[in-house]
Amino acid sequence: MDKELIANGKKKTLKPETLMMGYGYTPEWSEGAVKCPIFQTSTFVFENSKDGKEFFEIEHGIREPGEHGAGLIYSRMNNPDLEILEDRLTVWDGAEACAVFDSGMSAISTTVLEFLKPGDVLLTSEPIYGGTEHLFETVLAKFGVKTINFGVQHSKQQIIKLVEQAGAAGTLRMIFLETPANPTNCLIDIEMCVEIAKHFSTKERKVITALDNTFLGPVFQHPIKHGIDLVIYSATKYIGGHSDVVAGACLGSKELINRIKSLRSVLGSMASPLTGWLLMRSLETLKMRMTTAAQNAQEIAEWLSVHPKIEKVLYLGLIKEGDPQYIIYKKQCLSPGAMISFIIKGDEQASFRFLDSLKMIKLAVSLGGTESLAEHPAAMTHSAVEPYKRKEFGIADNLVRLSVGVEATEDIIWDLDQALSQI
Ligand code: PLP
Repeated sequence: MDKELIANGKKKTLKPETLMMGYGYTPEWSEGAVKCPIFQTSTFVFENSKDGKEFFEIEHGIREPGEHGAGLIYSRMNNPDLEILEDRLTVWDGAEACAVFDSGMSAISTTVLEFLKPGDVLLTSEPIYGGTEHLFETVLAKFGVKTINFGVQHSKQQIIKLVEQAGAAGTLRMIFLETPANPTNCLIDIEMCVEIAKHFSTKERKVITALDNTFLGPVFQHPIKHGIDLVIYSATKYIGGHSDVVAGACLGSKELINRIKSLRSVLGSMASPLTGWLLMRSLETLKMRMTTAAQNAQEIAEWLSVHPKIEKVLYLGLIKEGDPQYIIYKKQCLSPGAMISFIIKGDEQASFRFLDSLKMIKLAVSLGGTESLAEHPAAMTHSAVEPYKRKEFGIADNLVRLSVGVEATEDIIWDLDQALSQI
């Protein structure tokens, strides 16, 4: 399927949701199969040795790909299921290229390892997913990469000052954002961070910006349009959407993604052909799933916000005009999405009692699936975050995170209501 079709001399550009049914795949490649099959093979036959040599030269960046792409070599380097999926993913974000991984964490780790070296500094927003926090604060620290954190409370000038005071003006190499942040839904101004990257970039050292867009997914936020260099996903979440596959993706310019793909080949952090196939299947319903879940979430958040057992609901759809977060929301988010966090009146025990009383909503980490999932960030997804940071960034012991699914809204509300009555 092509992006543009012509009839009666007129051009029609197809919408992303339409392209998800077949973009990048031609049935003639596979005996007329309407859907791309699973290319469950480790290696690919070359027609002749010259082709083999050329394909490796392309892989090593010595030669530009021909009109038929890079040439298939070996499934650690490329595979049709990954390549077609990668082309399809570029559509939503308006990216030049994409690399798919076997988890969100391998997308993040491969990306930061490609651009950071000992002595470099990484500036990150807070809070961020606990696994990413551990990677940055513990693993990267072992390799001599220093991390500087900032939060919603910091202005552009304050962030610049934080970097300068840490003596990192000449060594800042990357800015990593997670917005909306897991689990508090707080928003970081993307364009402000792009300006900060420009402020510290020199001719020899460009400060690269990367953004984890997992929470709003490729349908509801397009960071590349706001100047971000690399967009990262845990494709385990909305892209996969059925809680049955673990995967990740990174999107950006051809130049940056080629570098990331080279490291992916060496680390072996690519996704399998089956994962590629599963994600292509999921993409066909991505917009429908995300739209329905977001409609559910708005209704549920409004219901929770007036519940007597709830202190506060953290949901993008409840941000009011006049709140500084509202301006950022309007600038960069296309929908409030379907992630709700709420503070229960009570302590950890009360939160656990609520979670243990749920009958239909599953008590599980992860998010973005068709089913609703609830969890306790401080004790679960963010338990590796230092207690002082959890306190500073609002990951309280009475905070519960709810990933709203596509079930009937009234059933979700019924379950929340009966579980809240147990507190
Ligand atoms: N980024 C965010 C915002 C997440 O919530 C997660 C996982 O929960 C990840 C990254 C890591 O993704 P994965 O579990 O696919 O490795």
